Amino acid sequence: MNVLVTGGAGYIGSHTCVELLNAGHRVLVIDNLCRSNPEALNRVRKITGKELLFRRIDLLDYDPLLAALREFSPDAVVHFAALKAVGESVRMPLTYYENNLAGTLNLCRAMSAVNCKNLVFSSSCTVYGNPARVPVTEASPTQNAECPYGRTKLFVEEILRDAAAADAAWHIALLRYFNPVGAHPSGLLGEDPRGTPNNLLPYIALVAAGKLPELSVFGNDYPTPDGTCIRDYLHVVDLAKGHLAALDGLPRFAGARAWNFGTGAGVSVLEVIAAFASVSGKKIPYKIAPRRAGDVVATYADPTRAREELNWSAELPLAQMCADAWRWQTQNPDGY
Ligand code: NAD
Ligand code: UDP
Repeated sequence: MNVLVTGGAGYIGSHTCVELLNAGHRVLVIDNLCRSNPEALNRVRKITGKELLFRRIDLLDYDPLLAALREFSPDAVVHFAALKAVGESVRMPLTYYENNLAGTLNLCRAMSAVNCKNLVFSSSCTVYGNPARVPVTEASPTQNAECPYGRTKLFVEEILRDAAAADAAWHIALLRYFNPVGAHPSGLLGEDPRGTPNNLLPYIALVAAGKLPELSVFGNDYPTPDGTCIRDYLHVVDLAKGHLAALDGLPRFAGARAWNFGTGAGVSVLEVIAAFASVSGKKIPYKIAPRRAGDVVATYADPTRAREELNWSAELPLAQMCADAWRWQTQNPDGY
């Protein structure tokens, strides 16, 4: 298949390109590189030994986007391109709505123009907010998110559902990722945040490397077994493979359908710290800090639907996620 990958130079997109190329697909990445480094694309080429097409295009620029789709003639699109920093979205809500909503609308318009209506969309467990019950199934209610970033995911899901309801030619997968972490086992691809990371795993990796003095654990007085928040961390390579499963499954499902992508296991912040320390052999100094505003207390997936309908399950354990994140950190101390 010809698969167009928006945001393919980013963290999850680059790992997914590896899996797509290894499965024999022809891949075009469209990315404006606003949050990524083109070296990631070279690393994908190096890992796979395959050709990877790339056009530097902003999804907000409709004409070049349409021209690229006409030329490539995609059979399906995997749509990662978005801004994703929670705090930044609170400070710059209009930028987030424009980029994530208008970017998606332009993409759908261009797809319609070339008659490609197979779409895999990167959604997030953030659409469930602070869930009343865990594990979270796809039938759990979506809730108004805590931040503009989260709302862009909720709004795009709704827009895509409306599009699919109006036109049966659309097949749309709404993939609700839980917490993707880790890196490619080669050590060549990984998460490369700009500045000080906001997310737990990249922060821990920098503390283990001695580049940051200590981790702040945001709250240890939550109603959880050790008092810290619970998340469902999944290996980015498992997640990347899930996109292949979703592409395979698309023709079997009419309209827009949501799938949870997680392991099904809830893991606390202190458990992640212990796992990373054990795998890296490094001390991870940490202090207990106040709760972070807007943090969800506990969320983890019920991944049954993805297993039964897409034949996909996350397989790699937490130790492997930490080992691969640590390999990426040590082999690329300054990122790409
Ligand atoms: P990332 O920032 O590494 O990658 C996003 C890519 O999109 C970047 O390469 C960026 O340059 C590109 N991009 C952004 N706006 C663009 C635009 N207007 N035009 C063209 N390219 C544009 O992020 P990621 O972690 O790989 O996340 C990929 C997707 O998965 C995002 O939609 C994100 O919201 C979603 N998601 C991520 C997580 C996570 O924890 N990483 C969790 C749930 C959902
Ligand atoms: N966390 C933390 N210190 C940090 C970063 C994160 O204690 O420096 C905690 C955070 O409160 C949450 C968990 O780690 O409970 C995962 O946070 P992350 O930002 O990685 O993911 P999200 O909250 O978006 O699921």
